Amino acid sequence: MSETTEREAICAIGQSIFARGLTAGSSGNISVRTGSGWLMTPTNASLGRLDPARLSKLDHDGRLVSGDAPTKESFLHRVMYEERPTTGAVVHLHSTHSVAVSCLVEIDPGDVLPPITAYYVMRVGRLPLVPYFRPGDLALSEAVRGFAGNHHAVLLANHGPVVAGSNLDAAVNAIEELEETAKLYLLLRGAETRSLTRSQVMELRG
Ligand SMILES: [Zn+2]
Repeated sequence: MSETTEREAICAIGQSIFARGLTAGSSGNISVRTGSGWLMTPTNASLGRLDPARLSKLDHDGRLVSGDAPTKESFLHRVMYEERPTTGAVVHLHSTHSVAVSCLVEIDPGDVLPPITAYYVMRVGRLPLVPYFRPGDLALSEAVRGFAGNHHAVLLANHGPVVAGSNLDAAVNAIEELEETAKLYLLLRGAETRSLTRSQVMELRG
């Protein structure tokens, strides 16, 4: 895919995410690996109003080549690319239902959401909770690094999900599946729920 096409894809997906209320204000960020480094959404930019020409273009060392300065959360993306060499894109959102779940005391930090649907198991799988750190604390990147080797999706406590994919569509589809499953989980709270059985989950993972 050409860089122009990649730029347009990032802006179109950002607009779609914003229009559907999956992240608000200037929260959320997207990055894509290119032949010469990365394209990333800029700091303080709303995903709903991205300009293809102003996306941050970074070289292989993460230095800004052109465009606006990258998101202050670029370290979350960098860790995913470093720990998962097959990653082609990373998406991070402050999506309401996922953030709500990340604040619950009752969740299992080793695997936050139960296997309610097959698509959740296939697109997200096990979802660990990364402990809370204040915005800008670089200790968060080391905490994410601890999980990234084994998980393409993590949930930051009281913050939101970070999801890596082989390409932009895969990362976006997975983070949307995560958000929908968080919503289902909240809808079903207090109701007796039948999750997929262990063998059903194993069959999907196989
Ligand atoms: Zn964030």
